[in-house]
This record gives sequence, C-alpha cells and structure tokens, in this order.
Amino acid sequence: MICANFETLLSQIHPLRLLIPTYHEHKILLLRYPLLSMTLRLQIYLVSYFMIMIINFASLSNTTSIMIAYATGNGNNSHNMCLFSVNICLNDQSQQEKSKETAGLVHSIVDQVNSTRLKNWIDNLSSFQTRHTKSDYVEDVAYWLRNELQSVCNGRVYFHNFTQPDQGKSYGLKNIICDQGSTSVDDKNHHHILISAHYDSRMGDINQSNARAPGADDNASGVAAVLELARVLSKVDLKNNIQFVLFSGEEQGQWGSVAYVKHQQTNSTKLDLVLNLDMVGYPSLGLGKVIVEYDLGNKITTNDVYSKNAGQFISQIDSEYTNLEASLRTLGKTDLIPFEAIGKTVIGLHDGGSELNPNYHSVSDTPDTLDIGYLTSVTKLALATILNLDKLDIGQVYSLLSITAL
Ligand SMILES: [Zn+2]
Repeated sequence: MICANFETLLSQIHPLRLLIPTYHEHKILLLRYPLLSMTLRLQIYLVSYFMIMIINFASLSNTTSIMIAYATGNGNNSHNMCLFSVNICLNDQSQQEKSKETAGLVHSIVDQVNSTRLKNWIDNLSSFQTRHTKSDYVEDVAYWLRNELQSVCNGRVYFHNFTQPDQGKSYGLKNIICDQGSTSVDDKNHHHILISAHYDSRMGDINQSNARAPGADDNASGVAAVLELARVLSKVDLKNNIQFVLFSGEEQGQWGSVAYVKHQQTNSTKLDLVLNLDMVGYPSLGLGKVIVEYDLGNKITTNDVYSKNAGQFISQIDSEYTNLEASLRTLGKTDLIPFEAIGKTVIGLHDGGSELNPNYHSVSDTPDTLDIGYLTSVTKLALATILNLDKLDIGQVYSLLSITAL
C-alpha cells in the first residue's frame, strides 16, 4: 500500500465551511468580512477545486482509504489558521500480487515433499546390517548414498575422504557432499547454507561395530530429509548457495564434521549457516511438536545471538507451512558443535528422541516405529526455512545470521 499526504494551509476560514461552501455561506462570510471578500472568494473556490480533484483522483485509482483531517489555530496577526490535510492510501496492486505470488510459489514448492520417497530412503538405509563407522558395511553405505545424492541433487556430488585414527587403528572414512551453487569466498553476493545429517548408526555398546543397528530415527530420518531437500531444491532457482552434506562418524564424537570443518578452513570455503537434522522421524513430544536446537554458549559466544535469530525465524514460519509448533532448546552433542567452535551460525531440528525414543541406539530403532507424516512435516519446515531465507535481501540475511569468514 502506498500512502500520500496532501496538505494545504488556509487562513481565516472556518474548517467546516471548507466542506460545504454553499452560496448561502459565501454570503455570510462576505457579510462578516467584507474587506477580505476577494481573498475569501478565491480561497473557497480553491478549496472546492482541491476537494473535487481529490475525489476524482480517488475514484480513478485503486484507493483503499482517504482520511481527511483538519486543525485550526491562531496564526500570525491573530488570523484564524486552518490546516487541511488529506491522506490518500493507494492499493499497490502490483506489489501485493507479487508477494502473494511469491508466497504461493513457496507453498507449491513445500508441497512437493514426498512421503513415499522419505519412507523408501529410510527403509533402504535401515536395511543395511549396520552403518557403524568401524563396520564392514560402512563403505557400501557411503557408495550407495553417493549414488542416491547424485540421482537427486543439482550439482557436483563427491566424497570428502578423511582418515581417522582411533585406539591404535586408522579408519578411512567418507563424508558425502553435493554443491548446489558456488562455494567460493569470492562470491560476496550470495549466502552459503550447509544442510547436514549424519548417516552412521550405533548400538548401545559403541564397540559392537558389526551388530545389527538399523538406526531408523538416528539418523536415517535426517539423511532421508536431506536427500528429499536436495531433490526438491534441485528444481528451484535459488539466490543462495546450498551444500548438502552427509557426515560419517558422528556417533564416535563428530569425526566427520570435525574433519570437514578442517577441510573447509584449509580451502577457505564460504559458510553462513549450518542447518543440521539429527533424529526427525519419531514424534517423541507429539505429532505437532519439533525442537529447534540453538547455540547458547559452547565455545564461542558472539555467534549465539544469530543462532537464536535463526531459531526464531523458524518458529515464526512453522504454522504457515506445517502443522508443527517449533520450540527452542539449546543444542546437544551434534555435528553442529565443530562448526560452532569456529564461530559459525548453527541451528538444528530434532524430534526429542535422544531422551524420549525408547529405541534410541538399539536394535529396535526400526522404520515401523517412525511416523512418516511427522518426518514429512519436519522436512517441509526445513524446506520452508531455506525458501524464506532466499526471499530476504542480502542486508536482511546479514543482520539475521551475521557473516563470519573461515
Ligand atoms: Zn544422531
């Protein structure tokens, strides 16, 4: 809506007379102020003309409201002054239609999240004997995931290989990555958002590397969500660059994310926000609740405010795109910790299952215990977050998330 204010200052006329300048009133005025007759005639004529002009203008345009106000007071030389003010508000149709169109577009993209695909990915991931980082199966899992990511993501898909020493042994491990858009630090005009989930699983006893560990909620659910986000976003022309990362070795103490942060620092990769999904398929707190994990304290404190901003941003859009209510909680031991430690703005989505899912780190963390409708809603919330951040201009994202160079 565009509003314009027209003001005119007249002297020696009572405001009521401005509205109904009848012939009879003219006469009274002229009798009262014979010496000023010419000025009065002219003023009354001008005001009448002014009002007719406004009414014509309003009827020809998309005027949504007209407010007329006046104020009187004593001006110089003891003359009665009248300030006559007309406020016209125009309905800026093009602007309104544009924002309606954008909102409709976001909704139509969010609606593309497909429950069947999410379910299939979870079933497949959980069908591996285990995804334990030290298991005989983890390499197969990594290659299978690379193919899946390749089939959905619009960008280069590759492994980030790293070697992890542990208890006298060395493990060759793989993070799996897809870059949608540039990752260059020279790209100052676009923001870089990393969306992640860890793909490894474990049993209660972390040393049981080859025991059955389906890890459906922890964290096939997060991996399925990331794959679905990559699929839907591959068809969207985004302003911001997105990197999808599937981490290895989270259960051993964030091995994959620690190695990846080091790799990013070495390569001066741009990064403005990390959104992590860890356990998003078991509605521990009820079907309508999801936890948004934000950073408070930890290693760096200057980034806290931005993490909370991001959390609040998510909790403001939740009801528009999903049936979820997002509640903020400080983050636990997740893959966000290594990014936080270098000052990044981080945020996580979580179902509360690390405390409340009875199948946590057990052989019973199977796909049938999950609620796919719930997972679909959480995935939609993550997608709506990315799309709504993309609508903001660069300055707004700056003040919301800050920018810290690696
Ligand atoms: Zn986990």
